[in-house]
Amino acid sequence: MAIRVYNTMSRSKEELETIEPGTVKMYVCGPTVYNYIHLGNARTFLNFDMIRRYLEYSGVDVTFVQNITDVDDKIINRANVEGVPADEIAEKYRLAFEEDMEALGVKPPDIAPRATEHIAEMVEVIAVLVEKGHAYVADGDVYFDVSSFAGYGRLSGRDLSEQQVTVQFSPEMERKRDPWDFALWKAAKPGEPSWESPWGPGRPGWHIECSTMSVQYLGGGFDIHGGGLDLVFPHHENEMAQAEAYSGDRFARYWIHSGMLNIDQEKMSKSLGNIKMLREVLEEFDPDTVRMLMLGTHYRSPLSFSEMSLTEARASIERIWNCLERIESAGDNGGGGSGAGGNELTSTLERLDASFREHMDDDFNSAAALGEIFEAVREVNTFLDGAEAPPAAALQRAKQFIMEHCGALGLELEASSRIVASSTSRAKISSAGSDRGRLLSFAAEAGIEAETGEMPDEELVQLLLEARQVARESKDFTRADMIRDGLNGLGIQVEDIKRLRPE
Ligand SMILES: [Zn+2]
Repeated sequence: MAIRVYNTMSRSKEELETIEPGTVKMYVCGPTVYNYIHLGNARTFLNFDMIRRYLEYSGVDVTFVQNITDVDDKIINRANVEGVPADEIAEKYRLAFEEDMEALGVKPPDIAPRATEHIAEMVEVIAVLVEKGHAYVADGDVYFDVSSFAGYGRLSGRDLSEQQVTVQFSPEMERKRDPWDFALWKAAKPGEPSWESPWGPGRPGWHIECSTMSVQYLGGGFDIHGGGLDLVFPHHENEMAQAEAYSGDRFARYWIHSGMLNIDQEKMSKSLGNIKMLREVLEEFDPDTVRMLMLGTHYRSPLSFSEMSLTEARASIERIWNCLERIESAGDNGGGGSGAGGNELTSTLERLDASFREHMDDDFNSAAALGEIFEAVREVNTFLDGAEAPPAAALQRAKQFIMEHCGALGLELEASSRIVASSTSRAKISSAGSDRGRLLSFAAEAGIEAETGEMPDEELVQLLLEARQVARESKDFTRADMIRDGLNGLGIQVEDIKRLRPE
């Protein structure tokens, strides 16, 4: 069955027909690097990671481009507040973004162009827009003339003639011919980062960055343009107007937008003070849990986040782990029998595989697809309850089914996420000075010297866990057990699970 996607442009599901069959060229708006990303941003990036992974799983060759906005008012404001240069802020949070994405298990883009490295190309596009009469210069700024582009409002479904506009008086508003016009180029203010241009020193507006870099790397009329739902207007509307006015051709074929995230039923916002950073959540929960929670809601629907929903997602991941463990130990306990029901299980899994794909082909319905994985987990558990000597082939297929379908959604089921220091004992060691001393002396005993004196407890525990992992891998079980027992003695639970990977 062909893959169908909901296209914001047509407001309907359409069959995905790409320019080149078997390949998808997609562009997703990346972060403005002025702060750590919050859970709402994380949801958008995770959703597009899921879409990309599923396309790849379906045999499609995907080229994934995601920009880094490293010059912007928000970055400049932040730099002024912190009293450091803007490029320092941008670099710091760009690296933090990469770290966060890696921690969440989001695949890095094939190309991650930075705005500041493409200024010349943007200047060129702006110059053509001015030349074609789609843009005008005013006091060193350049604005896009919305009235010059007939299709303006098509993507967001706005008819500007009927739209009320509330404008705040500003010098910028004074320079615009129409309040809907938007900046392509902003004249430099003292102390701001700036580049040379035919209109004087300045910097590009945000929208022109995406129009320029997407077409530069993917070609005009590329397949999928994505981003958060909050970007439809004005960002994507403006990107499209600029790009199509520039080339005279269609910009992107399919527009995909990821839904918003609410915290405890409320919109996440600065004024409500309920902004949750991804980092905070990943300190307490493993990435598969966060992903499980997010995939449990269709990517276009609003997602309601709460601590409780994370705990439930964690329990779902545990259910999968427990089933995999049961399969492993059934195999260890002989397996190889001709136990009845093996063929039946295998054909049930074939049926579930087909429905998994049907759900995902239908506009990436990850929530329904997860339902098929849990159905498989139930079937496998029932099979194991009833089979004394389950046949090896059926066990192998069961394990492979779970690993493969979880993998297609980006659930990694990494053993390391199961080696957890329980949060209660962690709290205990960090609050009690005497335990800190015991932890340090135990680390020294285990031969971990480094700069442990300065290191926070969590990192030290992590180092010990890594040392234990190294010992296990080199089959030095005496040392591995010594580290585990030592940690247990300090009130830190160490839980193990076999590494389960599809063969
Ligand atoms: Zn963009």
